[in-house]
Amino acid sequence: MKQLYMAGLLLGAFGGAHAATQTIDCGRLLDVKNGTWREGVSIVVENGVVKSVGPMTRAAGNIDLSRHACLPGLIDMHVHLTSETAPVVEAYRDRLTADPQDMAFRSVKYAHRTLMAGFTTVRDLGAADGLNVSLKRAIAAGEIPGPRMFTAGKSIATTGGHADPTNNLSHFLSEKLGAPGPEKGVIDSPEEGRQAVRQRYKEGADLIKITATGGVLSQAANGQNSQYTEDELKAIVSTAKDYGFRVAAHAHGAEGMKRALRAGVDSIEHGTLMDDETVALFKKTGHWYVPTISAGRYVADKAKDPNYYSALVRPKAAAIGPQLQATFARAHKAGVKIAFGTDAGVFPHGENAKEFGYMVEAGMTPAEAIRSATLHAAALLDQPGRLGSVEPGFAADIIAVEGDPLRDVKVLEQVKFVMKDGVVYKKP
Ligand SMILES: [Zn+2]
Repeated sequence: MKQLYMAGLLLGAFGGAHAATQTIDCGRLLDVKNGTWREGVSIVVENGVVKSVGPMTRAAGNIDLSRHACLPGLIDMHVHLTSETAPVVEAYRDRLTADPQDMAFRSVKYAHRTLMAGFTTVRDLGAADGLNVSLKRAIAAGEIPGPRMFTAGKSIATTGGHADPTNNLSHFLSEKLGAPGPEKGVIDSPEEGRQAVRQRYKEGADLIKITATGGVLSQAANGQNSQYTEDELKAIVSTAKDYGFRVAAHAHGAEGMKRALRAGVDSIEHGTLMDDETVALFKKTGHWYVPTISAGRYVADKAKDPNYYSALVRPKAAAIGPQLQATFARAHKAGVKIAFGTDAGVFPHGENAKEFGYMVEAGMTPAEAIRSATLHAAALLDQPGRLGSVEPGFAADIIAVEGDPLRDVKVLEQVKFVMKDGVVYKKP
């Protein structure tokens, strides 16, 4: 709460905008491209954009991070900022008693925690009731502190698929609610797929998310089966391109991944049961892999508690969760393009940076892991030259830590300074 108040004060002081010109003295600044430090640097920020990076000036009024290591703001390519994990009893209670407004107020806290953890940009891959689109608007307008958001609106699924909001309800409720249909993101033909994409455009989404296979946390039996025909996938991807949308595909099973990659999606999320043929297809198409090891580790751990997940979910969490880190290791070794993503919301928001430790544990160097959460994530977001580095012309998204993340990547779990678009949200 204290931090929220402070961020409020800072926002107030700047009238919801950035101070015109600020200079930050950094003990060292990470060159993310080369994975090297530049010692003793002053970053001049003007109107929310990096104006210059030069030798440290230590002038009066500079922000003093001379004992800190500065990096570009971190980017998480897979979060759900409008919900958070809870035991099944609470989740079902919410389904009966919580309105979208209740969820919206909770999401203010999740967005704040994410920003304070050093994540200045996120891609939100699915929420009900347009909540993520509204949250993005509130943050962009400076109404509340949070990371810059790119949102998919509601994920698109097929009937009974991962992200069908009416899965496993009583027949009575199903009848009352009716079939969700393309407007609510559930489709069963190429026609409906096109309609669902256009609906997301109308509602203000920035990209499209589809659930190409079964998933762990949906109330359905299969966690990995293919859930779209190739025709449906092609209709969705080609319509998405018409609107300038990139497409992210949730997938655990290999067949669903291959269909999605062949249809031209830009990223595969999770990718758990990736086989050699899928790895080859990744390399041939040049599409991105977003691993979300954090989610796998968290659900595998919670599956040990018999009361945390439902009877349908628990075996899927126990079987699929533990495999993600090994899949990541294989994909990385094979040279698949990897962008950092966690699935935050499946585990508590603000713990996103644990993913770095898991990536390094599985064979990445810290420099590569940081690159996946900066330059590579910016490439997948189609924001090159704007996000992912501290260079002239880039958005002034800057964080700082104590210690050396190239030696111990876990220091990124303790971010001490956060600036987004030239606004300071956290100071040592
Ligand atoms: Zn997700």
